[in-house]
Amino acid sequence: MIFDRKEKAMPDYYYRHILDITPEDIRNMGAEAVAVDLDNTAVFFGSFRLEEGVREWTRNMMRSGIKVIIVSNTLNGRAFILSRQMCNVGFVALSLKPSPRGIEIASRRLGVPVEKIAMIGDKLSSDILAANRAGAIAVKVENLRYVYERETSLPKYAATAATVAAAAAVISVLK
Ligand SMILES: [Mg+2]
Repeated sequence: MIFDRKEKAMPDYYYRHILDITPEDIRNMGAEAVAVDLDNTAVFFGSFRLEEGVREWTRNMMRSGIKVIIVSNTLNGRAFILSRQMCNVGFVALSLKPSPRGIEIASRRLGVPVEKIAMIGDKLSSDILAANRAGAIAVKVENLRYVYERETSLPKYAATAATVAAAAAVISVLK
């Protein structure tokens, strides 16, 4: 079989965190709408509380004329609860990513062609593949958990480094 470009799990854009993506970035991608994954992108896996800042991020997108919709594989009830915290945006739950179906439904609901939708998600094997299969713009973010663990462990490393430096100073004095 000839390699099918749509079957690639490679993103068009890459960001550390959803909050790093600006409305200008979205417009520069040629997009008019964003489809947002929930787990490990906008919320910790299985959580019912939206990640801090995502509500404001959503409001900022919408104020800038970018449409926002949730496209998640989670259950309807949980997507509903999280959408309430996310400025009441619409949602497609049980989207069956990596199937392109959820993004296609989002496209019809928003009235925005799929090629003008930026799918934002953490997983190559679901979000990014679904985006490419649908013909949407694939935007990869890092898994929230990894971003969080790395950044909260920085002070710990700094403390360790300070201890080592202090010990070295003591040793040099004793010499
Ligand atoms: Mg995810």
